[in-house]
Amino acid sequence: MAWQIQCTASSPPASPPPFTPKCLPPRSLFFTLSATSSSRFCPHHMPSLRSVTCSLSAVESPTSTAGLDDSKTPLLEVKGLTAVIAETKQEILKGVNLVVHQGEIHAIMGKNGSGKSTFSKVLVGHPDYEVTGGSVVFKGENLLDMEPEERSLAGLFMSFQAPIEIPGVNNIDFLHMAYNARRKKLGELELGPLEVLGADLAILDEIDSGLDIDALRDVAKAVNGLLTPKNSVMMITHYRRLLEVIKPTCIHIMEDGRIIKTGDSSLAKVLEEKGYTSISAE
Ligand code: ADP
Ligand code: MG
Repeated sequence: MAWQIQCTASSPPASPPPFTPKCLPPRSLFFTLSATSSSRFCPHHMPSLRSVTCSLSAVESPTSTAGLDDSKTPLLEVKGLTAVIAETKQEILKGVNLVVHQGEIHAIMGKNGSGKSTFSKVLVGHPDYEVTGGSVVFKGENLLDMEPEERSLAGLFMSFQAPIEIPGVNNIDFLHMAYNARRKKLGELELGPLEVLGADLAILDEIDSGLDIDALRDVAKAVNGLLTPKNSVMMITHYRRLLEVIKPTCIHIMEDGRIIKTGDSSLAKVLEEKGYTSISAE
């Protein structure tokens, strides 16, 4: 497997790193769905999209599906997912529960080092990690049984978190290039930049890093524009202004390898005003 991606920095380096091809995937972008298994409703309204529901991740009862909206089709269902770093066996994911239905945008927030990028990478099958427990079902199939390439072909797409100061290569270029690589492999026509995100589940890891306000607006437009009744987005971000424009269905807060809180888009405001500590303390 020609997987060489190694962009795991949680924060930008102090000085710009040299551009190295290892930060770019050899083949394709990966669209990823995110799912939450949940035990209680937090209904809310998404003005620009539709009425949606999201629910608190049931860490203590990972198999619980109580409160889920059965009328919607789950795209991604993650239950009790645990994973270790392959080399050291250090546990990073300690029981992640998440269900993403078709047509939803989920945002994952949390302090640096809480496991957000690891979660995304485990979903796409990154070889740095070993899954030690739990399950992930994507479009009804056991995702954990699939090779990374198969996950991509199944419609899971991921943009990796990358250092922001790579000269001339921003995340949008990266997505565009990677998605077109996938299209080419499938014998399909390559797409323009705004069509790039047309996958079933797109996982965007800090796609907003290092962008100015105008670029952020474009990203928000692109993300909003890609949402159809069938596909979904899971985005990792620290940037509340982006969430104000994108208006995610649910915001999840990750801490120490678990989702400790799920709420609607108003959660971002609480975070900005009171910080993550207020949430951990609840
Ligand atoms: P986040 O994206 O929330 O900032 P990460 O998922 O990148 O967090 O990292 C979670 C924790 O796991 C951090 O302490 C990080 O140092 C550690 N970690 C993640 N991947 C690796 C790895 N491949 N090797 C060593 N430590 C890792
Ligand atoms: Mg990260």
